[in-house]
Amino acid sequence: MEGRAPIPTATKGARQLRACLLCSIVLQPIDFRRQGCPNCEEILQMKNSGDRIASCTTTYFDGVIAVIDPENSWVAKWQRTSKYVIGMYAARVKGQTKLRWTDSFERKVDLSCVSYTLCTAS
Ligand SMILES: [Zn+2]
Repeated sequence: MEGRAPIPTATKGARQLRACLLCSIVLQPIDFRRQGCPNCEEILQMKNSGDRIASCTTTYFDGVIAVIDPENSWVAKWQRTSKYVIGMYAARVKGQTKLRWTDSFERKVDLSCVSYTLCTAS
């Protein structure tokens, strides 16, 4: 997963695509299970954990943005995904993570990422 996330195909399980509540990346549940979130795995630890995937990702999201050049894309900057891996991202994520926003958690996370997540979690 070196800087690039698997691109979900619409041919199977498109309705079951899930968006990470922290970085908005859109993946098939199997990808979250196999390798966790390519951007937030260190924090969310979803690999091989159905429970964590259920609480840290959501099927409720609007629109999908393909980010292929995160460093230079103005859309990626606007979405605050410019530091993330190449992949598909939700334009808007609904839902709230069940994670508790502890001090240690916030210290690990880029602040723009946190504020973005709090803004979209409604
Ligand atoms: Zn993520």
